[in-house]
Amino acid sequence: MSLKLTFFGAVRTVTGSKFVLHTRKTSVLTEFGMFQGHRKKAFEINSRVPQAALNADAMVFSHAHIDHSGNIPRLVAAGYARPIYATPATVDLTKILLLDSAEIQERDVEYVNKKHAKRGEPAVEPLYTVEEAQAAAQHFRKLPYHERKELARRLSVTLYDAGHILGSAQVLHEIDGRRILFTGDLGQPDLPVVRDPERIPDPDVIISESTYGGRVHPPLEEGKEHLQKILQEAYDRSAKMLVPAFSVGRTQALVFVMHQLMDEGRLPQMPIWIDSPLSLEATQVFRKHPECFDAETREYLEQDKDPFGFFRLRYVKTVEESKALNAVKGPCMIIAASGMCEGGRVVHHLKNIVPDEKNLVLITGFQAQGTLGRRIVEGAKVVRLYGEEYPLNCQVQVLNEYSAHADKNDLLDFFRGYNPKKVREVFLVHGDEDQSKALAEAVSELGYENVQIPEVGETFDIR
Ligand SMILES: [Zn+2]
Repeated sequence: MSLKLTFFGAVRTVTGSKFVLHTRKTSVLTEFGMFQGHRKKAFEINSRVPQAALNADAMVFSHAHIDHSGNIPRLVAAGYARPIYATPATVDLTKILLLDSAEIQERDVEYVNKKHAKRGEPAVEPLYTVEEAQAAAQHFRKLPYHERKELARRLSVTLYDAGHILGSAQVLHEIDGRRILFTGDLGQPDLPVVRDPERIPDPDVIISESTYGGRVHPPLEEGKEHLQKILQEAYDRSAKMLVPAFSVGRTQALVFVMHQLMDEGRLPQMPIWIDSPLSLEATQVFRKHPECFDAETREYLEQDKDPFGFFRLRYVKTVEESKALNAVKGPCMIIAASGMCEGGRVVHHLKNIVPDEKNLVLITGFQAQGTLGRRIVEGAKVVRLYGEEYPLNCQVQVLNEYSAHADKNDLLDFFRGYNPKKVREVFLVHGDEDQSKALAEAVSELGYENVQIPEVGETFDIR
């Protein structure tokens, strides 16, 4: 029976992941991520819900990160009412992340509308509300790793560990006897906390991420030393250190390593604030899902130690507490959501921290094109926050070692694990164009014949 595959996002870019597999009788939607970038363009793209997504018999998604799950409330608000599958840890994390995303949007819209009202401009709406995020969560169904789920006749799905963040999965679709493997975001081997990615036997088609398809990360061991050096120097000049972090995954990995450094006497004690109303909840989800941890983290737990160094952390809950941190003097660290500096509390910390040259902004994760985080990484001298310009005089350091993503070598190892003659097609998604192209070339050199980089809206016939 004919099988088609249509991509609706995260192609030739890293956000807005979504695609649909469809036969004449059934279809399944995979991911409904949020597109991140300039506010207006992002709103426009995220507002559109493809008909093929609304028509799907079921939906599944790989992990909790917003670029993979963040637009689900919009999908449900537009009328999608069938089950949405993910691993138990992913379901728990995503519920919190979507609520947080909705709260941020409601607050941002309130702020923007005050300005619009003054200028006599029309009011804007959030992409979705807290209520809509709660309604969407009603459709979530927990599907543990390795449990094969029939979604419809001759259509099933199985989730395998992707080793990227807690609960992250690779998705294996079986449709009419064809095995279509979607990698989701693949982790790098030996990342703190999570296990390594699993190998899934005999795919006919591979849809792979390519975030770092053309880049190689420094070894993780060097990462620890690099982090120590950056933090020691910042400590010595009494810096306020700001880490804009994804609340989930990156924060826990970073804290895990800092905690080890302090235990080993390689880093002085300093106050660490986690400024994100959802971090505490997210951390509780981590505690609830030890089935997802790697051996090192389990060992910590078995010795009754506290792997995440919780006793060293101070959690900031209210906006007032968050603002009070502006008066605190260094050395200290503030880890604030959200990832790409585009919204959330990180914005007012940036305003407070970037003008002073002794301070530090430590970037630990991928920053998408068009985001403020990306401009900071690229050496912007001025940043625009709340519509005003601030000089960026502080130090900016980028720590790529703790990227939760596989790099070029890891991705090629992944492809070496399969027989290129048996994989009929490879689609490279979730990467800026140069990264996808670099990976496509390298994967072709391994002997894979049909390696494609799709365009948004493009449909392929799967043999
Ligand atoms: Zn991710």
